[in-house]
Amino acid sequence: MIELRGVRAIYGRTIALDQVDLEIGEGITGLFGPNGSGKSTLLRIIAGLQRPARGEVRFDGRPRHPADENLRRRIGYAGHDVGLYGRLSIEENLRLFAALWGAPDDHVTHVIETIGLADRAASRVDELSAGLKRRAGVARALACAPEILLLDEPFATLDDEAADLVTSAIQTWHSPGRTAVIATHG
Ligand code: ADP
Ligand code: MG
Repeated sequence: MIELRGVRAIYGRTIALDQVDLEIGEGITGLFGPNGSGKSTLLRIIAGLQRPARGEVRFDGRPRHPADENLRRRIGYAGHDVGLYGRLSIEENLRLFAALWGAPDDHVTHVIETIGLADRAASRVDELSAGLKRRAGVARALACAPEILLLDEPFATLDDEAADLVTSAIQTWHSPGRTAVIATHG
């Protein structure tokens, strides 16, 4: 269970989030809102990539400690930046991140297949189209077999077929006890 209590985020004079109280339980939760409504900020704060100006995030009732490596391992985040090494292939990237997160190596192959990247697994990331990069970024988050999955606009720039593959990869990842938050504009 993820809880936000009185979370505020500011950028200069812009208040991006103010007094956000939120409880997110098991299952897949959608975060909807127009551009600029604070979805990315909220996900980065939950992921621990950004500190709130006020308030706190709790996991299973406990406030997060910035240096909590165990918590970090439980979270898979895919944001606007692809977060992969451009000069490495998709598969090399995924194996690297899975190893860092302590996920089993054969899981990488499984994720590459379910998300439909098998025929591009050996391609360098900096040679991919925007849509393939986005899918590879989601694959990285899934390859870490996280208990908490945070996806920021995972369907952006994807055609219908690719969006369906991402959806089925998320469904394959999902099982009891796991929590996903997926931001989509609209
Ligand atoms: P969303 O993801 O819903 O589009 P964001 O969280 O990206 O919303 O942005 C929320 C607000 O914070 C917007 O007004 C945006 O302009 C502002 N903002 C986001 N990131 C930054 C930043 N790095 N510097 C300044 N302002 C920012
Ligand atoms: Mg955003």
